[in-house]
Amino acid sequence: MAEDVRPRASWDEYFMSIAQVVATRSTCPRKYVGAVLVRNRTILSTGYNGSIRGMPHCSDVGHMMEDGHCVATIHAEANAIIQAARNGVMIEGATNYVTASPCWNCFKQLANSGVTRICFGEFYRDERIFEIAKQIGIELTHVPLPGVTLPKLPNQGPG
Ligand SMILES: [Zn+2]
Ligand SMILES: [Zn+2]
Repeated sequence: MAEDVRPRASWDEYFMSIAQVVATRSTCPRKYVGAVLVRNRTILSTGYNGSIRGMPHCSDVGHMMEDGHCVATIHAEANAIIQAARNGVMIEGATNYVTASPCWNCFKQLANSGVTRICFGEFYRDERIFEIAKQIGIELTHVPLPGVTLPKLPNQGPG
């Protein structure tokens, strides 16, 4: 029997892999993003890019474009914060794993929700976050995307 010699995933790789799986639930095909809030190696909440609750998905009805961006969705990081709030979970001092670096709005929300570390998979578009993170003491770290792909599952029905 051949031994499985894969190195054990680091905690950062582990949670970033989970963020990649979370991203597969995104409903705006312009950008699939997943976010996971973690403290003490425990997942507090997750979020992905998606429409307002009860509203149709971009993938079904098209985007709501404004200045070259789709504004129909709530971003992954914001949805992770919202999911924690809905469940009464404290996220002060948490780490946010997100597959794409936060946009300016999400960065502001993460900062004020007490997140102290942000790990992003790929650079998205806002350069300001690097300077401001330094100023306010948020650790902003690049964690390369582990490249998780989900096998094509049989039809799962609506949901
Ligand atoms: Zn969209
Ligand atoms: Zn955002």
